[in-house]
Amino acid sequence: MTANLLDYDLDGLAAFCERLGEKRFRAMQLFRWIHQKGASNFDDMSDLAKSLREKLKTTACVTPLTVLQQHISTDGTIKWLFDVEGGNAIEAVFIPEVDRGTLCVSSQAGCAVACRFCSTGHQGFSRNLTSGEIVAQLWFAEHFLRQYLGRSDRVISNVVMMGMGEPLQNYSALVPALRVMLDDHAYGLSRRRVTVSTSGVVPMIDRLGQDCPVALAVSLHASNDVLRDELVPLNRKYPIAELLRACLRYLKVAPRDFITFEYCMLDGVNDSAIHATELVSLVRTAHAGVWCKFNLIPFNPFPESGLTRSPHSVVLAFAKVLSDAGIVTTIRKTRGDDIDAACGQLAGDVKDRTDVQKRMNKRRTIPILAEMAMVPHGKEDSVND
Ligand code: SF4
Repeated sequence: MTANLLDYDLDGLAAFCERLGEKRFRAMQLFRWIHQKGASNFDDMSDLAKSLREKLKTTACVTPLTVLQQHISTDGTIKWLFDVEGGNAIEAVFIPEVDRGTLCVSSQAGCAVACRFCSTGHQGFSRNLTSGEIVAQLWFAEHFLRQYLGRSDRVISNVVMMGMGEPLQNYSALVPALRVMLDDHAYGLSRRRVTVSTSGVVPMIDRLGQDCPVALAVSLHASNDVLRDELVPLNRKYPIAELLRACLRYLKVAPRDFITFEYCMLDGVNDSAIHATELVSLVRTAHAGVWCKFNLIPFNPFPESGLTRSPHSVVLAFAKVLSDAGIVTTIRKTRGDDIDAACGQLAGDVKDRTDVQKRMNKRRTIPILAEMAMVPHGKEDSVND
C-alpha cells in the first residue's frame, strides 16, 4: 500500500523518509515541493536524487481530492464540493477580502453534534476526515487560486476550521493538519491566522492548548443552558459554565488574547435584548476574564430547520447591547449567497444517513421568547485578521 504524503506533517514525513533510508533534509525538500510548489508528480521534483524519486514512486503518492463541483460567486467567494468516497462529499470555501484570503475547511463528512441551525448537522455523521483530506483542501485551493488569479505569491493567508464537522471530535487528524498549515516549509501560516472553531468539546480545548495552540472560536449561539441545550446538544455534556472555564484556561496559551464567540442570530429564538444582556453578564460578571469578541452570524435558512433569520434591525440592536458593554462585536457579512456558500448548504442534498432529521423533529421544543425571558440566570463559535 502506498502512503499519501498529504497525511504527514514534517516529523511524520521525516520518519517516512528514514524508513526509506533517507535523511531528514530530504523530507524537508519533499515537503516544500508538495506544499509550496503544489507538486504531486515525483518526476517534477528535480532536486531530489533520482534514486529517491524511484523509491517514492513505488511507496508513496500525493493524492488530491476530486472536485465534484465548483461554484464562483459574483462577490469572488469560491466554493468547492469534494468527493471523499463512499457517497460522501465535503465543502471548502474561499472568501477573498481586500487584506486577506480566508479558506474555510471541513474536518468531518457530516457531523454528530447536530446543531439545530446547521445544515451539516441535519445530515448526520458519516466519518472523520484523515489529516491528508483536511490538508488536501488547502493544498488544492492554494494552488488552484494561484493559477486562477495569476499569482505566484501566497493567496490564502487565513484558515478557519469552520466547515463541515466538529474539528475537536477528529483531534488525531486535526493536529497534524494544523502543523502542516503552520510549518514554514509548507504554508507558513501564523498561529493567529489559523482558527479552530468548536461547539465546545471541553477536554479537547485543553489538549489543543497543550499540543497546538491556534486561535479559538467557540460556537456559543445561546446565552443560557436551557436554550443552548436545544440549539447545540453538546451543551448537555459540557454546559456553558464549564465551557467558559475552558476558554479561560485556553487564553493562557492562546496566540490571541481573546476568544471569538460565534452567535447565529435566529429570529425570535436567541436574538432579544434579554439574551444580549445575559451574554454580557456571562462574560463580564459570571466568568470575568474571558476576553472575547462576538461575531454575530445572520442565519442561512434551510427548509428542514424550521428557523428564520433575525431581521437586520434586531441584529443591530443586539450588537449595540454588547458593544455598549465594551465587547468588540462584529456582524458577519453574508458572502456567496448566490452559490449557497453557508456551511453544509452545497452538500445539503446528501442523504440523511443517521435519521438525524427524525430525531431532531422529535425534540423540536425550543421555547418561545416569552418563556425564555422567565428563565432565571442561575439555571442555567471575520474571525481573524
Ligand atoms: S455547527 Fe458545527 S458542530 Fe454544530 S452541527 Fe454544524 S458542523 Fe457540527
